[in-house]
Order: sequence, then structure tokens, then C-alpha cells
Amino acid sequence: MSALLLLLLTAPASAEDDGPGPSTSETALKWLRDSAEYHAIATQTYRQATAALKTNKKGKGPWAAVLDVDETVLDNSVYQLERHTYDLPYESVSWHAWCERRQATPVPGVEDFLTEVRKQGGRVVFLTNRKAVVTEATRDNLADHGLYQDGDLLCTRTDTSDKAPRREQVRTGEGPCSFDEPTRAAVYLGDSWGDFPADGEETGARLDGVGSRYFVLPNPLYGEWQFLRGITRPLP
Ligand SMILES: [Mg+2]
Repeated sequence: MSALLLLLLTAPASAEDDGPGPSTSETALKWLRDSAEYHAIATQTYRQATAALKTNKKGKGPWAAVLDVDETVLDNSVYQLERHTYDLPYESVSWHAWCERRQATPVPGVEDFLTEVRKQGGRVVFLTNRKAVVTEATRDNLADHGLYQDGDLLCTRTDTSDKAPRREQVRTGEGPCSFDEPTRAAVYLGDSWGDFPADGEETGARLDGVGSRYFVLPNPLYGEWQFLRGITRPLP
């Protein structure tokens, strides 16, 4: 194995956490940026989510697609690549500077998906753990690619990275992360297990929703899984 391959990147547990510097391999970065397979899997995930709308949108009242942002809607791998090039770790100052640059690009498949959601009368919620200080930059970055439109919700991190309270606000229509009326989440998309309702938070087990209501994007660059010690699986 080359020394180059052994060089490790430092990446965040989530894009907003200053963790102890979990590392990710150059191979993972290259796979996400360059492989046809990553492109195909992301496209496949979004196509499956699109197909699920037909069934999931049925019911009373307005419905929405709820999407995480980083490595779900926006590809931040240029930031990761830059940190790697300079052999520098993730930290929040450079991360926020990256967000302010508004240069993240769409994850494959998301544009067609959002077009279809809107065509079918759905609402769009971007539920991210980016901090409020980069709300405007995030909205601009999304809008530059036609991903954010007037009337969409962009909910940044509150006092907790736990997304459950914000999901509840969308559902109940009460609170800043809401449309001021109850809105059903037809589908959730994310690259982190925390992007999806926990067991019993809505209905049933989280794992049971995968592939029907919950659609997971691959992210080999960073995540809470990096902090797991030993052979520990987060799934049942
Ligand atoms: Mg994410």
C-alpha cells in the first residue's frame, strides 16, 4: 500500500461537530468524487424515493419530502479535498468559510427528485445541522442550483443536533421548523442514521422504513459511525 494511500483525512462526525478528528481514507474521498458507482447509487436512491411518492403522498392534508443537506443534497467533497491537500483537519472555522463560499454541488439525482416532488404537489424541507450563521449561504447555495425555492423550509441546527424536535415541528405545524399547519413527511432522505425518525418516534422501527419511506445516501467520508469502538453495529 502506498504511503499516499495511508495518508488520512480528518473529517467531522457530522458537518457541524468538532469531534476528536476521526479520519477517513483517501480511497473513500476518491470513491465518492470519481466513481461511477457512487453516482449510480445516489441516483438509484433518489429514483427509489421518487417512486415511493406515489404511495406515500396519499392521505389527508399537505405532505413533504424531508431532506438532510450535507452529503444528501449538497456534495461538500471539495472542502474535504482541500483539507486533505493541505494536510489539515476539519474544524468549524474552515467549514463555515466553505459554507460561505456557496460552492457545494448537487448530489446526483436530487435535482430530478425535487422537480418531481414539486410537480406532484409536495413541499420541501431541508433539515440540516449546519448552524444558523450559515443559513443565508446555505439557502443561496441551494438556490443557485435550483434546489431551494420560495416556500421551502430550511431548518438549521437549534440548541441540539437531535433532529427529532424539528421533525415534530414539521409534523405538528407548530414552531419555526414548520409550515404553520400539520404536514406529513412522505419520505425522508439522509446520509446519517440520525436523519431518520428513531424507533417509535413516528411509527415502528427505523430500519423497517428503509427503502419505503426512508432513503439512505452513502457517505464514506464522515459520520458518527467513525466513533464506534470495536465491532459495534448501530442496526439491530
Ligand atoms: Mg448529512
